[in-house]
Amino acid sequence: MDGSGLPETRSTCPYCGVGCGVLLRPDGQGGLAVRGDPDHPANRGKLCSKGAALGETVGLGTRLLAPQIGGVDVPWDRALETVAARFSDTIAEHGPDSVAFYVSGQLLTEDYYVANKLMKGFIGSANIDTNSRLCMASTVAGHKRAFGTDTVPGTYEDLDEADLVVLVGSNLAWCHPVLYQRLMAARATRGTRIIVIDPRRTASCNQADLHLALAPGSDVALFNHLLTRIYEGGALDKSYLQHVSGFDAALCAAYADDLGVTGLDQEEVARFCQAWIGTEKVVTIFSQGVNQSTSGSDKVNAILNCHLATGRIGKPGMGPLSVTGQPNAMGGREVGGLANMLACHLDLENADHRAAVRGFWSSGPLPMAPGLKAVDMFDAVEEGRIKALWIIHTNPAVSMPDADRVARAIATCAFTVVSDVTAETDTARLADVLLPATAWAEKSGTVTNSDRTISRQRAVLPAPEWVRDDWAILAEVGRRMGWEAAFDYAGPAEIFREHVALSAIAGRFGKDFDISGLRDLDDTAYDALPPTRWPVSDAKDGGRFFAQGGFYHADGKARMLPLRWRAPAAKTDRRFPYRLNTGRIRDQWHTMTRTALSPRLSAHLAEPFVDIHPADAAEIGVAAADLVRLASPQGSAILRARLTEAQTPGQLFAPMHWTADYAPTGRIDAVVAGATDPVSGQPESKAAVVSAARF
Ligand code: SF4
Repeated sequence: MDGSGLPETRSTCPYCGVGCGVLLRPDGQGGLAVRGDPDHPANRGKLCSKGAALGETVGLGTRLLAPQIGGVDVPWDRALETVAARFSDTIAEHGPDSVAFYVSGQLLTEDYYVANKLMKGFIGSANIDTNSRLCMASTVAGHKRAFGTDTVPGTYEDLDEADLVVLVGSNLAWCHPVLYQRLMAARATRGTRIIVIDPRRTASCNQADLHLALAPGSDVALFNHLLTRIYEGGALDKSYLQHVSGFDAALCAAYADDLGVTGLDQEEVARFCQAWIGTEKVVTIFSQGVNQSTSGSDKVNAILNCHLATGRIGKPGMGPLSVTGQPNAMGGREVGGLANMLACHLDLENADHRAAVRGFWSSGPLPMAPGLKAVDMFDAVEEGRIKALWIIHTNPAVSMPDADRVARAIATCAFTVVSDVTAETDTARLADVLLPATAWAEKSGTVTNSDRTISRQRAVLPAPEWVRDDWAILAEVGRRMGWEAAFDYAGPAEIFREHVALSAIAGRFGKDFDISGLRDLDDTAYDALPPTRWPVSDAKDGGRFFAQGGFYHADGKARMLPLRWRAPAAKTDRRFPYRLNTGRIRDQWHTMTRTALSPRLSAHLAEPFVDIHPADAAEIGVAAADLVRLASPQGSAILRARLTEAQTPGQLFAPMHWTADYAPTGRIDAVVAGATDPVSGQPESKAAVVSAARF
């Protein structure tokens, strides 16, 4: 109970991948009192500005409150029948690969599970992808290449015990603020040193001992150089290397010469290498600056190479730690909600895995090859190869790269369904059918945060009469498409139990994702489930991975990869001379459908802007607060200029959040090209090329 003496309900924040626990108390007038849960291991009572303002975002003013077809309210029965019939007819005429789902890291694990089962198990296509493709697909690819599976080796506790924390492409202070607070607390008590590797001087640099403003996209060259210094300095852990294959001293030395492409001062690089090599307890946190790149997978593996070479992995206070952008990006990975995954970290390309999942689901044949990843999916929509598309809790008409083209593609798709909470989004306006879904405080299920902790999200507000849970909408469409028994769920607890049972099969195949220890959860125990880090089985508990090897490649060894630096796909030239980086700001979330409802969050940075170095501004005759037009081969945006020496000359930064509703000319992803990493399919959102001129 809080000070009011009224009962509170435990739940989780719906924003970033830190996965903070919250205590919620309805105020009886549709609002909520919110405070941090002191007993949740992720945040231990703390919240950031966004989490603290959650109570201001639960009103019904912008909600989608009834199903619509062609902009007209219709009964649920008609809407669901229309969706099921159009998908069935399209599949009958054009085959299963003519339809697609584009879903979201905002979905709860139970929603995600049903969506993946419907598409891969029963429709028989792998064309389900998620906006998490834009967030951490490169990390998934890097983990799988190095470890043989998509495992986060460490935990948040490692931040409490590390002596050096390196932030690579991560503005932790703004994008994962409670983890940053945790790091600051460790720094205050044990003097943890911090090094930031980022082209921009961000808020995370304020407390850093060293900031390396490397050239965009050059991370592989820097970490190759570190690996060479590790080798030459005698810092290899030769005992640990018995668990690793692929280390090649000659190859890594050959690439050490690439360091020049980083543009970094040699002395600063030497300080970084000395600190890294000389500190056993080192955690490397990496995020979108690493992932959102055409060499994102290689960047991840370049970081993992250094941890594997030194055996600094899976032990207290040391290891690589990917921090995800969304509240349930990890849960999506666990249920296989990406086009190249199966379920429970089983492999789509493995016939035994497919057969086991097919048997478990009593489904038809599962697809044998990956489906369309996000960028390819919208290309296929544009080309007419996808003829029925279901978009769930995401706004690709704003958030996908080349957003104008994506919006045009959706508009021309033969049949588009959008499930969402918000009535008026750039994407919802393009839908043939709109399905109103329950919002964060109205729905119940589980999410998994960046350190593998599964937490319950609990309903505390009554859902409006005409909205439904996503799992229920998906299951009802599945039943109407003819698969009654497979989608006959009573509620999220039953779905979770099925997910748990499937994970036991993954465990029998020797996979890391095994939560079979939760098999006895009845509805009451599911409701009361405390935060639980996986794995949870008879053989394993939720600790760290890989301290003693035990990797998931067939030979049980990790792989170090030989990697060569590659430049970003788009090249600057006389027409487009600036490198544009895009990202989050502290107080907004994604396309602002929720955070813009809070006056105090909107007051932080009230309009879209572009950060520009004063020298660049002078060259194009721009003063502070002028409007600047950015243009690229893809499109344009008009933004307010902020002059700052935090930017390196030649580089610009603009936030990703603004939509046509809040700033008609501020949709920055209209400017960003859709170039992708060849391994992960993740787009390069941080290295577009643009022109800039006073507007
Ligand atoms: Fe929510 Fe992330 Fe802030 Fe925690 S750090 S309160 S999960 S936005």
